[in-house]
Amino acid sequence: MAIIASNFKTNHTRKSTADFINNVNDFLNTNSISEDVYVFPTATSLDTFATVSNLTLGAQNAYATANGSFTGEIGTEQLDEFGIKTILIGHSERRHVLNESQEEIAKKFSFYSELGYKVIYCIGEPLEVKEQGLEQTLEYIYEQFVGIDTNYENLILAYEPVWAIGTGVTATNEDIKSVHSAIKARIAKPLLYGGSVKVANVREICSLDGVDGALIGTASWKVEDFKQIIENTK
Ligand code: 13P
Repeated sequence: MAIIASNFKTNHTRKSTADFINNVNDFLNTNSISEDVYVFPTATSLDTFATVSNLTLGAQNAYATANGSFTGEIGTEQLDEFGIKTILIGHSERRHVLNESQEEIAKKFSFYSELGYKVIYCIGEPLEVKEQGLEQTLEYIYEQFVGIDTNYENLILAYEPVWAIGTGVTATNEDIKSVHSAIKARIAKPLLYGGSVKVANVREICSLDGVDGALIGTASWKVEDFKQIIENTK
């Protein structure tokens, strides 16, 4: 059974998110699909799904706090209101666009893991590191585990090479297999692949050794495509 997750990033309105979620929920229901499906909408839409039962909703980000003076952030007091108990931590865009340090990421991880949240923890190397070879790539990735309790029971990992995110350039099967098998040898947790996963390649990627599912951005934002992606991994 694959784990399929959609990361909306900064896309969709409350209305289109609600339509999307209800559509996918009905699809999972009527087709008795047992894949583990996650959707990470924007924070402004986290309240739209109280009645949804067949998929799990998660936060793309939140601060390591219950509440307080952290302008622009949300904490567990707000997530609790919507019953959200799943969070993405360490996404490439948080690391490289929003400049979150490994220290901040580890702090967030400790905070949310102590509260029992399901954490999808993302790692992945930029192009200049990939070009140096597998050894350097793995070294870079292992640095992204500093301060992270990889034994945490509610942990799912996602390998998302930065150069494959939103570029249309998917990692090759060989790239995916070599990084996944190395990570898996160290950390016995479900491991998703992310980075230009599409309707056309999701089946093959999810069937590779060491791949337990996919974390998808662009190709998951149209509901018909997302349903096809789920269908293709059955
Ligand atoms: P794309 O699927 O658009 O490459 O994005 C991947 C991603 O960042 C999911 O978190």
